[in-house]
Amino acid sequence: MAKTSKPTFYVTTPIYYVNDVLHIGHAYTTIIADILARAKKLRGCEVFFLTGTDEHGQKIEKAAAEKGLQPKELADRVVVRALDLWKALDISFDFFIRTTMPQHERGVQAVFKMLMDKGDVYKGEYKGWYCVSDENFLAEDVPLEKEGHKVCPDCGKKCILVSEECYFFKLSAYQKPLLDLYDKNPAFVRPPSRMNEVASFVRQGLRDLSITRTTVKWGVPVPGDPKHTIYVWFDALHNYLTGIGYGTDDKNFRRFWPADLHLVGKDILRFHAVFWPAFLMAGGFELPRTVFGHGWWLKDDTKMSKSKGNVLDPYQILKFFGPDPLRYFLVREVPIGLDGNFSHEAFLHRVNSDLANDLGNLVQRTLTMIRNYFQGRIDDPGPELPVDAALRQGFAELKDKAVALYDDYAINKALEEIWAYITSVNKYLAGHEPWKLAKSPSNRPRLGRILFQAAAAIRGICHLLFPVMPSSMSKVWDCLGEAKKPDEELFSEFNFDGFKKGQVIKEPVPLFPRVALKDFLSEGTAPRTPAGPTATTAARKTPAASSATKEQTMDIITYDDFKKMDLKVGLILTAERVPNTDKLLKLEVDLGTEKRQVVAGVGDVYTPEEIIGKKLIMVANLKPAVIRGVESQGMILAAESGGKAIIPFFERDVAPGSKVK
Ligand SMILES: [Zn+2]
Repeated sequence: MAKTSKPTFYVTTPIYYVNDVLHIGHAYTTIIADILARAKKLRGCEVFFLTGTDEHGQKIEKAAAEKGLQPKELADRVVVRALDLWKALDISFDFFIRTTMPQHERGVQAVFKMLMDKGDVYKGEYKGWYCVSDENFLAEDVPLEKEGHKVCPDCGKKCILVSEECYFFKLSAYQKPLLDLYDKNPAFVRPPSRMNEVASFVRQGLRDLSITRTTVKWGVPVPGDPKHTIYVWFDALHNYLTGIGYGTDDKNFRRFWPADLHLVGKDILRFHAVFWPAFLMAGGFELPRTVFGHGWWLKDDTKMSKSKGNVLDPYQILKFFGPDPLRYFLVREVPIGLDGNFSHEAFLHRVNSDLANDLGNLVQRTLTMIRNYFQGRIDDPGPELPVDAALRQGFAELKDKAVALYDDYAINKALEEIWAYITSVNKYLAGHEPWKLAKSPSNRPRLGRILFQAAAAIRGICHLLFPVMPSSMSKVWDCLGEAKKPDEELFSEFNFDGFKKGQVIKEPVPLFPRVALKDFLSEGTAPRTPAGPTATTAARKTPAASSATKEQTMDIITYDDFKKMDLKVGLILTAERVPNTDKLLKLEVDLGTEKRQVVAGVGDVYTPEEIIGKKLIMVANLKPAVIRGVESQGMILAAESGGKAIIPFFERDVAPGSKVK
């Protein structure tokens, strides 16, 4: 039988310049590449994921000299930082290419020589305005300033007029072939708006490109003419060939070239969508399938950059949350092609609402119930009713959609679909109220089926979410008693009913930490887990002191003081979440003679559906207060436990409005 070879998927990030401080923007590109690489592996592809560092150029030479180091020594130090960050973010690259690696330098020289022999690279004289900071000659159409010099449109720095002997690449010869490429393969550049920009740039005409310098020493020498150094962009772009073995491992190179996806920031799209395919055409290489120009993460509506001093350090978030919430947020919040504005509030909202509430609580509740009611065993559920089958059918449909969306690099849409399904599973559980069924032994088969179905749905959700949140989803699979990790099973192999005989649920572990905004913002001093009061307060007048202080100063009250409190039994008639809050529920409570609206901070522990119809104790004579724009006419009593508010509900029937003494 002939061995069928797997399809391949080759994805790259730009190689990051070692003189840059790695920030959320770099993390973003790399996270997207990692998610797509993991999703393709689950599709059965053989994947090669390449990232690395760009280590040549004048800026490195200068920065190293200032520190009294050799350029390579400086690069070695920075590379360690990059590798640490990628490890902290769970980045699963296959190879980390450095442009100072001998195999890269030899590969660049080989291509250069080949193009020179073909006549696509020739020696000439270049005169132009040069930005030292960006190592870039300015476009001819940048106007002269009053003082007679040009200013770099990218960084705003004064440029110098440079005239030097150099080698040119005959880019002008590739205008027509490039336009033909864009015509024939509209997906060569994505999103389509960026394709339009690129095509209109090329239509305006292309000049030959100077690709060497004599003023820069720190780089790859031109073969046979070592006073010339190959220009950083020509050098750097070829990492996509050398990183998979061009010139050193032909078998691997042939296996993975051409690249399926070059992920790049929109600012470097021109290099990748114009110069790069032209170099490749000249060298007789196949062309990459897609160059995806993603948007920027902005801070306060400006692009993050070292020079502007507004970079967000990923470690600020990692130290509170670990990698998964950041990975999730960056790809959920905006489609890959658009810009996003990073705000700590938006980040925290996503983490608390999507991750902790919707997903984390679902997992926690379901697993806890299976452990409490069935000693953790779920392999023998009762008969399946149509409503249960709908959950299975819903998952089958979800899987098709989500996989197709991953294939189309539409990660945010895949997550939207997955979250719609999570909501349906939460509704399924709330609608069946398993905690009520558990009270009567005759309901056990039904209870077993409902919990089995919910656990199966959770298992499927985690499988689909694995590419985005690999470490958390592996944890859930482990708690479900799975012997395998989620990525040991392909999307196509996944079986909704795949629980093994004897599979036992382990105690659920906390998945997503809850962090208060104030702790998050005062980073550095805040605890990892949220502390402090989560009382169901309606009218907390004074800011809470720390609980230790409160205990020390707690006053003794008289019986008369206590009698001033009007405590009554309340019946919860309706409950709904207060929009844009993490844990506030708006309740309508029947006090026997009247109905009250109360706002309670219990939405992280209870779902609205679950507490409707329950009876609790309410402080009925508390002065009304407005909480997040909603009036609260009283307060419900709850115990504070592990940072959560647990409501004491009445076990036996008691009339609403009964006095509590
Ligand atoms: Zn500049």
